[in-house]
Amino acid sequence: MAKNIQAIRGMHDVLPVQTPHWQFLESRVRDILGRYGYEEIRMPIVEFTELFKRSIGEVTDIVEKEMYTFQDRNGDSLTLRPEGTAGCVRAALEHGLLHNQTQRLWYQGPMFRHERPQKGRYRQFHQIGVETFGMPGPDIDAEVIAITARLWRELGIEGLELQLNTLGTSEERARYRDELVRYFSAHADRLDEDSRRRLHSNPLRILDTKNPEMAELVGGAPVLEAYLGDDSRRHFERLRGLLDAAGVAHVLNPRLVRGLDYYSLTVFEWVTDQLGAQGTVCAGGRYDGLVAQLGGRPTPAVGFAMGMERLIALLEARDRLPASARADVYLVVMGESAQGEGLALAERLRDALPRLRLLTHCGGGGFKAQFKRADRSGAQLALILGEDELGKGEVGVKHLREDKPQESIPLDRLAGYLSHTLGVQPPARNLP
Ligand code: ATP
Ligand code: MG
Repeated sequence: MAKNIQAIRGMHDVLPVQTPHWQFLESRVRDILGRYGYEEIRMPIVEFTELFKRSIGEVTDIVEKEMYTFQDRNGDSLTLRPEGTAGCVRAALEHGLLHNQTQRLWYQGPMFRHERPQKGRYRQFHQIGVETFGMPGPDIDAEVIAITARLWRELGIEGLELQLNTLGTSEERARYRDELVRYFSAHADRLDEDSRRRLHSNPLRILDTKNPEMAELVGGAPVLEAYLGDDSRRHFERLRGLLDAAGVAHVLNPRLVRGLDYYSLTVFEWVTDQLGAQGTVCAGGRYDGLVAQLGGRPTPAVGFAMGMERLIALLEARDRLPASARADVYLVVMGESAQGEGLALAERLRDALPRLRLLTHCGGGGFKAQFKRADRSGAQLALILGEDELGKGEVGVKHLREDKPQESIPLDRLAGYLSHTLGVQPPARNLP
């Protein structure tokens, strides 16, 4: 027999038992972002490789070793997007969304990085991201962070910690960088291979290392704080004041960095200890330099991206996800002559009760087999339509989850009966 073809390592199917979890997360996020006046933007999954090289930067994990890059048939170098910010800025520039206006945008979808797959780290993963443009002050930083805090609250995710830092301006960072290079050079024998490579190209990224053997060395490194100018300090202090006013608790983490030149001032991450090593569920910050780096006029910008797989893992661990009943009602159809009437009845019920989830039995079989399927569907009620019922102009109703006797309901009263018995809002779809 031919060998089955399997999915690519680190790329996962979302199976029907899991899709309700994804839909739950997606719909809550969409709802909350809408309440804050954010608009959805959808970008292509593939962009010119050059876009990511110019925005993310040549000396980063992503561009050095994680991108899925290929030549298309014209010989253009294309890349599956490893993140959403670059494409979002590209689209906003291309369509003139940044000229003399502010934007509050969000997107969602798959991202691709050739990393070592492990729990919470995949090669195709999914992000929901927010990008705002045109607002330079800490007020928008605070708003964006308040959105994330509300998300966890309304999703019922507890125990996340907000870590906050400021990276200052690129000039301030340049002076700090020299100091860092001096420090790490003096301890060159204790650097791992990645860090040695970054020492001169991107030393801030060393602070971001995941190697526990480097923790002590990194812990002793100088901190950026000492190099901040007055404006940077004021921006950070005002942001912290706004977060306090909004009741968003945070801790300072002077080691929190993003090693890219376009970042400035605010950086934040939401972290948890419930997911093992992959503890960051959401990361963001201010990137005032990026729009100009991609050819636009200097434009202030703040955003974040969150990892949906990690959020779903948290929701699953906390049992905060909706049960996945597929149907409210299952229509059992006995005999060929009932099939036409059954189909017509099902369509009439769907007209009358647009919120009803009704599964019609297909594929034949006896009562026993049909009731087994009815039970598996999660439905509350089975409707039974056979020769007998047809002759009397009624439908049998069997309660699948309650110990109640079977009933017979006249066809013309069925819609009313169902809406009364099940409630207009079908149960078991949403969390309280
Ligand atoms: P990490 O330090 O975990 O590699 P990162 O700094 O590369 O994260 P970002 O580019 O900031 O991550 O992406 C934002 C969020 O997207 C992360 O906080 C995480 O929740 C999620 N994420 C990033 N890479 C992956 C991945 N390979 N698999 C699953 N989720 C991911
Ligand atoms: Mg990474």
